[in-house]
Amino acid sequence: MPGIDNIFEVIFLVGFVIGSVIRKVYTFRCRGSKATKKRKSVVDIILISAAGMGMALPFFYLFSPWLEFANYDLPGWLGWIGTVVFAAALVMLWRSHADLGRNWSAILQIRQEHSLVTDGIYRHIRHPMYAAHLLWAIAQGLLLENWLAGWSFLVIFIPLYLMRTPKEEKMMLEQFGREYRQYISRTGRIIPRFWR
Ligand code: SAH
Repeated sequence: MPGIDNIFEVIFLVGFVIGSVIRKVYTFRCRGSKATKKRKSVVDIILISAAGMGMALPFFYLFSPWLEFANYDLPGWLGWIGTVVFAAALVMLWRSHADLGRNWSAILQIRQEHSLVTDGIYRHIRHPMYAAHLLWAIAQGLLLENWLAGWSFLVIFIPLYLMRTPKEEKMMLEQFGREYRQYISRTGRIIPRFWR
């Protein structure tokens, strides 16, 4: 039966709303900040749109019967792990948006007054926002008992991450040169590096 019928679905919805509010607030703060270089790619835009669908599929699972054929049962303890992972994702999403400030953009681009952020959550990890999305995608799979609604975001986000990160780092190297090369040498790409 469609509808909310366990605590983990409520947790997912609450997390989804918190994550959406974080995204909206910081997107609003970036308004008016113009780009000097844009790296638009069709594949990037298709994958971003597909990832958006992966994030939205849970609503079809929760509020329509269409995905019922892909339902399955998960043990409750996995849901609690999913809750912790989702909380970690939201904290990382918030801190990465707060620290990146007006340098943030959905597509790859350099803004007019772009500065290289190497502090805050960016001190030990270069892609905390992508890490936050990966954690979100894993949490979604652990919270929702449906193959499609649970895992589609992760299946789409992994190729998006693998394709986008090298392009982004190339763009940052062209823009910030030695400063970014040194930053790479002391940080982890998606897993924080606390040693030099
Ligand atoms: N990859 C980062 C940022 C994602 S937003 C993360 O996962 O946290 C994408 C935009 O952020 C890119 O267009 C790039 O211009 C900008 N960016 C990425 N790393 C940055 C950094 N360390 N300092 C400033 N801008 C950065």
